[in-house]
Amino acid sequence: MERTSYDVAIVGAGVVGCAVAHELARYQVRTVLIERAAEVGFGTSKANSGIIHGGHQAGAATLKGRLEWAGNQRWGALCDELGFGFARVGGLTVALAEEELPVLDRLLHHAAEKGVPGVQRWDRRRILAAEPNLTPGVVAGVWAPTTAVINPYEACFGLAAAAAAAGVVVLTDTPVMQLRQLTDGWQLDTPHDTLSARFVLNAAGVHATDVAQLAGLPGYRTRARKGEEYLLDKRLQGLVTRVIYPCPSATSKGTLVIPTYDGTIMIGPTAEMVDDPDDTSTTSAGAERVLAAARRLVPGISERDVIAEFAGVRAVLDDEDFRIGPTEAPGLFDVAGIQSPGLTAAPAIAELVVHQLRDAGLELRPRHDPLPTVAPPLRTARLSVLEHRRLADADPRAAHVVCRCELVTEAEIHDAIVHGARTLDGLKFRTRAGMGRCQGGFCSTRCMEQLANELQVPMTAVTKRGGASWLVVDRHEESQP
Ligand SMILES: Cc1cc2nc3c(=O)[nH]c(=O)nc-3n(C[C@H](O)[C@H](O)[C@H](O)COP(=O)(O)OP(=O)(O)OC[C@H]3O[C@@H](n4cnc5c(N)ncnc54)[C@H](O)[C@@H]3O)c2cc1C
Repeated sequence: MERTSYDVAIVGAGVVGCAVAHELARYQVRTVLIERAAEVGFGTSKANSGIIHGGHQAGAATLKGRLEWAGNQRWGALCDELGFGFARVGGLTVALAEEELPVLDRLLHHAAEKGVPGVQRWDRRRILAAEPNLTPGVVAGVWAPTTAVINPYEACFGLAAAAAAAGVVVLTDTPVMQLRQLTDGWQLDTPHDTLSARFVLNAAGVHATDVAQLAGLPGYRTRARKGEEYLLDKRLQGLVTRVIYPCPSATSKGTLVIPTYDGTIMIGPTAEMVDDPDDTSTTSAGAERVLAAARRLVPGISERDVIAEFAGVRAVLDDEDFRIGPTEAPGLFDVAGIQSPGLTAAPAIAELVVHQLRDAGLELRPRHDPLPTVAPPLRTARLSVLEHRRLADADPRAAHVVCRCELVTEAEIHDAIVHGARTLDGLKFRTRAGMGRCQGGFCSTRCMEQLANELQVPMTAVTKRGGASWLVVDRHEESQP
């Protein structure tokens, strides 16, 4: 059987796989990015706190600590290139008791050893002047101006779209089911196709162990640590203006209060080991824990403010560090155990992996032309009235509002579909339709209709997030013999 052959196959299109694909696109390398979900970024990369950590959270002795700061420094330029939501709002880690003060010293030490600029100790007065809604019980804090917030799904879409525009083949709805070693590389079996690649990167997140086992490697144990997050009503915008961290423990940064890029306040996450790597359920116990911990930092937060909740699962290895590099199987690389701060570190992980591929014999000839640019997503809510009017004159779809809470128009839904949205969640993450107070009560059916019309499929084929997550059933069809 004839196989499509590549230099590099990346298994898993989370933020790590997308960042590696984008980095490889700078070179004349035939790359395929393979994702089992309906769209890129639909694993842990869409379900996190959306923070680009300041660079001082983890120590320089760990790989994740070194890549945290290296990655942090690269996100600004990527945002300029790709136009996703990103803002350096800064982060404040606060001690609520004298006993926690050594933790602040440790963060200052991390900043000094890694050369993170601007990280300072703040006293209680300065903290409360900057963030008056914090608990008056705050003792002291560490301020990091390098901390940023990001729309992580937009980043995945942007990285993958730019990589695709540069020639990377992006396959979604394509689980890798078997890996077979060839004389010079690997054969990858998927339900649709058989591919081959000289190098395979295992960037499968919480499923990295499964993918290693497909290649016959006994591998390592990837455990799953779930984190629940809770989104608050937009009317609380401005309650805090910086990311507020409690003093971290050895395995968790604790429950944070996060001013997200789009203005909603988010609180979370929890950190709980679970048996099922796909367990993204939220629980009343989790909600209680998050609310109690968030209230310790910002007492004004109430459970009545919660408008949405979700959970993501961190991929954790026994040594609590990233595992990046060649395996004992020639040509197969691990990019595994990418727990927090994996989002922050992703661009640096990509650079490291590309260097490792070069060291293993991949020829890296730069492209002849610059990387193609991709248009940033259309966002009517960010336009002035005059700009919106001009847009609506040129495209009447921009005058039709689909999502009232977030002011999303038919023009944006169309733009998102043109750029690859295939599911209701894909539209939501690209446009914010359904992310407001009514959580899609008004716009879901409108979005589904537009998806069905533009993709020329029946409404019954539209799914929430791919697979069997259909939203409507044709009872008439069901009742036919
Ligand atoms: C609650 C929570 C909060 C977090 N907050 C932050 C934060 O604020 N800042 C930060 O830096 N980090 C944070 N993290 C960590 C960060 O989200 C992860 O490190 C990062 O998203 C991991 O990316 P990834 O690409 O390795 O994994 P994923 O995004 O999970 O991507 C792996 C992909 O592989 C695919 N896949 C699996 N098996 C196969 C197969 N056989 N074939 C094809 N595809 C396959 C999956 O579908 C998935 O899309 C948080 C994590 C959680 C859970």
